[in-house]
Amino acid sequence: MHNPSALVTGASRGIGREIALSLARYGFDILINYSGNKAAAMSAASECVQAASLSGRTIRTVAIQADIGDSASRNRLMMEARRWSPALHLLVNNAGIAPAERADILEGSEASFDRVLAVNLKAPYFLSQLAAKWMLEGTPADSTPPPDRRADARWQPKIINISSVSAYAASINRGEYCVSKAGLSMVTALFSQRLAAHGINVFEIRPGVITTDMTEAVKEKYDTLIAEGLTPIPRWGSPSDVARAVIAIAEGAFPFSTGEVLNVDGGFHLRKL
Ligand code: NAP
Repeated sequence: MHNPSALVTGASRGIGREIALSLARYGFDILINYSGNKAAAMSAASECVQAASLSGRTIRTVAIQADIGDSASRNRLMMEARRWSPALHLLVNNAGIAPAERADILEGSEASFDRVLAVNLKAPYFLSQLAAKWMLEGTPADSTPPPDRRADARWQPKIINISSVSAYAASINRGEYCVSKAGLSMVTALFSQRLAAHGINVFEIRPGVITTDMTEAVKEKYDTLIAEGLTPIPRWGSPSDVARAVIAIAEGAFPFSTGEVLNVDGGFHLRKL
């Protein structure tokens, strides 16, 4: 095994795609998970190889379709990942969905609640469980990294959850999204506690308002809010703002931290008087 390997859920588009590209540049083999957009996933995979090559690295990529909100698909994803890679060094629980329709919490449906929680909360919980068990098996003897790589933080297993400012900021017209992200924060706390003694550190990145397909429908609303002072840093965030935080974790910038939350939100979380 020449490179450490990373599984990024929802890596065909948006934040996940940028995370995958950055990890590829940094020399990870990349497992790209996606839900339905095969063309985007395949182009992300080839861009990863090109990005790595421009950084002087040779990596492998694979795109694996799986609706992570579905238990059988999730298990198949991990089985296919295991067939493709002898070990897993980084899981980025990135894939997430907004409610199909925003609805006041007095009206929102159970179906939407169940779907959003299945993808945004249940999936990262059980993917973390499956990934942690795989990570605990270690890197097989026949593919153990050479001694000079042991000090390289990329080979030390980690889990990163991409949550949201919605973990604490209440939006009454998409309650299920907020509940899912608040729950994901507890997933970070639980798995960081459980895995710390095994050398697996777990992190949460909380993005603010980021330019992706997810926020396209509310672009004008947020343009106005940002112009009116929503965030101390007065601009939209970009997927690369989030990817940079992932790389900082992957390169071992926080070796004595686990369960830590990194706000990537232009200062949205700061209170003022
Ligand atoms: P996006 O542009 O809508 O992209 C979503 C990605 O997730 C796509 O790759 C999509 O795959 C994949 N996906 C969706 N449902 C899936 C499922 N059931 N199984 C597997 N993959 C699935 O979203 P984004 O804005 O990049 O968001 C990424 C993460 O950041 C999410 O967890 C989101 O909640 C969080 N976040 C976003 C913002 C923001 O402002 N954008 C802010 C805070 C947090 P396909 O291409 O196949 O559809």
